Amino acid sequence: MTMRQSTSLSSLSSVDKDYSAQSHYTRNNLLSGQWQSKVPERNINRNVLVSEEYVNDRQDRVIGKSDRSAGQKKKKKKHLITANLSGTRYDVVRQMVEKLGFSVTKDDDLGAYLIWNDSFVSMDRISELKSYQRMNHFPGMGEITRKDALARNLLRLQKAFPDDYNFIPKTWILPTDHSLLLGYARDLKAKKKQRTFIAKPSNGAQGHGIALYKNAEKIPQTEHFIVQEYIDKPLLLDGYKFDLRVYVLVTSCDPLRIFLLNDGLVRLCTEKYVPPSDGNVGRLFMHLTNYSVNKHSETYEKSIGVDTGSKRSIKYLNDHLRKNDYDVTLLWKNISEMIVKTMLVAEPHILHAYRMCRPGQSPASDSVCFEVLGFDFMIDRKCRPWLIEINRSPSFGTDEKIDYDIKSSLIEDTLHLLNIKVSDKRRNLANMKAEAQKRLFRTTKKGDTADMTELEKRRHNIAKRKEELKEQLNRVRKATAREDYENRNLGRFRRIFPSDDKIRQEKYCNLLMTAFSVILSGRGAAMQKEILQTYNNRLQEEDITDQIEQCEVDEKEGRIFTSQGRPPRIPKPLTSMPDNLPVTAEQCQDDDDDSDDQTESFNKRILSGGSRSRPQSIHQRSNSESPPANKSAGATGRPASNTSLQRTKSLTRIPAGNKTASSQRTGIDENILSSMVKEREEELTKKTLTALNEMRIKFPGKSDAEADNLLDRLHENMKFHKPRIASYWLVKLDSIKRRKVIDIVRSNVRAVIQRIWKCSDIDSLRLFRIFSRVFNRLLWSHGQGLWNCFASVGNSWETIFSKSSECISENEMNSCRRIVQLCKDCLLIVYQFATEAKAAPSQPTSDTEEQSPITYNGYSYLPSREAKPPPTWNPQTFSQRYSKLYQSKVEGMT
Ligand code: ADP
Repeated sequence: MTMRQSTSLSSLSSVDKDYSAQSHYTRNNLLSGQWQSKVPERNINRNVLVSEEYVNDRQDRVIGKSDRSAGQKKKKKKHLITANLSGTRYDVVRQMVEKLGFSVTKDDDLGAYLIWNDSFVSMDRISELKSYQRMNHFPGMGEITRKDALARNLLRLQKAFPDDYNFIPKTWILPTDHSLLLGYARDLKAKKKQRTFIAKPSNGAQGHGIALYKNAEKIPQTEHFIVQEYIDKPLLLDGYKFDLRVYVLVTSCDPLRIFLLNDGLVRLCTEKYVPPSDGNVGRLFMHLTNYSVNKHSETYEKSIGVDTGSKRSIKYLNDHLRKNDYDVTLLWKNISEMIVKTMLVAEPHILHAYRMCRPGQSPASDSVCFEVLGFDFMIDRKCRPWLIEINRSPSFGTDEKIDYDIKSSLIEDTLHLLNIKVSDKRRNLANMKAEAQKRLFRTTKKGDTADMTELEKRRHNIAKRKEELKEQLNRVRKATAREDYENRNLGRFRRIFPSDDKIRQEKYCNLLMTAFSVILSGRGAAMQKEILQTYNNRLQEEDITDQIEQCEVDEKEGRIFTSQGRPPRIPKPLTSMPDNLPVTAEQCQDDDDDSDDQTESFNKRILSGGSRSRPQSIHQRSNSESPPANKSAGATGRPASNTSLQRTKSLTRIPAGNKTASSQRTGIDENILSSMVKEREEELTKKTLTALNEMRIKFPGKSDAEADNLLDRLHENMKFHKPRIASYWLVKLDSIKRRKVIDIVRSNVRAVIQRIWKCSDIDSLRLFRIFSRVFNRLLWSHGQGLWNCFASVGNSWETIFSKSSECISENEMNSCRRIVQLCKDCLLIVYQFATEAKAAPSQPTSDTEEQSPITYNGYSYLPSREAKPPPTWNPQTFSQRYSKLYQSKVEGMT
């Protein structure tokens, strides 16, 4: 039993010896009367566990420990993998979970590693999962498990690939296709052909509401049904119609990974088959193979041996077919291809829904969803398989031993393939933190590119490329490790997608790309590269490392180039500034002067409190137009001649702690210097306040006026929104996400200060230190700090100053107040954005939208009042844009 090998479906008949051994073992128990379908847990465990040693071996693998000494028992218990099984009624799930050493937790434990639900779950629930958790359903799977949706999706692909998607019986979706159905029936009549139709409720199950019709005109037109041509020449077993229940495991949709169990159930009717006639169409025991129908038949036979009973194994069927000269290999090749092709149709829906639920989840990380699907097939007399339906919650009932044998190993092997480890929790949380930090860092830098020189752009691109390659390398390594793990732990599964057969895989990729373009219309094209990269063009580890090395060489060359005469870049103003006001003629005149004079005139303007300055353009021009000698002088310090200007510059740039040294250097009286510093600081603080007052929180896709309106409306309806905002800010967002919201304001304030104070080390500036205290206060007590600001006495944050000895000027205090206001607005906007993104219908964007000239580069959170909304903004695609635009900044907040 410890030898767990994969067997191909074509050799299903020669299922592993260990499996036969287990069957034999349990059959003996059964014969000796030990078997009960609902025996207490312990008995079942004793009956089915093959050996203590085997179980322990498994536990160690899952728990990741090898020392099972008694002394360690206590320690181990603390670190068990937990499973919340409150959503399942099946004993066999619990038994397998326990067999693997998981600990079943309380019903309300939402943080369990494994969550198993019989019914599918909401997208919200999936969004809330932590990245170490696993839940047994994917969002969007309804697109193939509802009968009408399955038919609709397959028919769409049938148009593009008629030869590949011809494995469901001819289908009509009512009421829409009713007239088409009647037209078809009329044609048949004209050709003097006879057909039987089967009508099934679109969302039905277990044979409920199914009826056969010899005359299509009698099928009610108003109901939500699907109608299919009845397969009237099925392959029979001992004279009975039968179908196959095939189990398929999907462990991930991003990327897609599909496994097929090398066994399953054959379910027989309980009345011998006679082709449909007016007299027998009502005989369900003859025409429907459902267990839920046939178990009520008097002739239902519980399976005792392998070759008797109304339920048998696929292994048995294969043997039987082989004995009767059917090509079993071809049959299973066809079935596995049908499964993959069906999943390829589902993939665009599932991937889209999954990414909506898990924005920003790295493809290298483990999927939080998996799903065991029950595919039902019928085989006709020519041994051609037909897909009948797909169940997203196949029954794990174990009324009979054959059920237990197959379903227990299905669940056990599934749990093994999921590879849940105790360390997942810790590791994933650490990864998440690192990712979040990386994203923040990345976003801050993004806005810079517009102002970069060619060389800087090149270096930036190389660095970006290197980062992408590293991520790719990480993905490839992870995929290799995953594949390696899978190959060793397939149990009775075999992987059917991605396929090891290169030609087949290429074909699947084509189908997948078409499925994306057909189902997600405009966005299909964007997915092509990703599909090819992920499934068909997998770079080898060495290729990627070679490319990284190349990047490093390029980077080096870039450095040499810089050191050979090019001036180092001085900090650029960030693009997320409030827009600048028009330049006056006087300023233009100033700009034409040499760089020293430009700086002087700029400083004069600030010191005199004159008209609003245009520091950004002055700054840029001083670097791009003045001669290199002056530029380097500007960057490194100035000659001692122009004393007043030099003083001003020193005052601007030297942090408080360095004042004495500075005064000694320049020989200026300490008192004069101190008063000048104060005066200058006050002036710059005032300027900062003005800039802060001009700032607006940008709502993506909306003009500032619209954003202002929106804020007004939120304030007007505060009674309604308050509890929702509270639950969003205080409960839904974790500390990382709360910090991200505050950081939207913080990074922009930082940029403003950097621009106005012309200081690169702004962390040591008094004003920024004051602001930092405010920001920290707002995050205080799990976000309570900012939340208190929404209360009627919303200035409790001011106590941070009342308790300190530091003297805060009026302008500084007003700047802090403005910052608090901006943070409040920012929360309201992000909250509103998340609400809208959630409510927005996920309609595909059209091609034209994809290619619209909106540029997101430099699209700031805090643009000026003059900022225009993007030209082709369309509320229907809001959430999609959001994911592109804000993903890295407010990731996971919706
Ligand atoms: P349900 O979800 O209610 O079980 P199914 O689509 O699985 O509905 O159909 C129930 C049963 O009806 C199948 O197991 C099969 O025996 C029979 N059946 C369904 N569709 C066809 C068909 N097109 N031709 C012949 N038999 C069919």
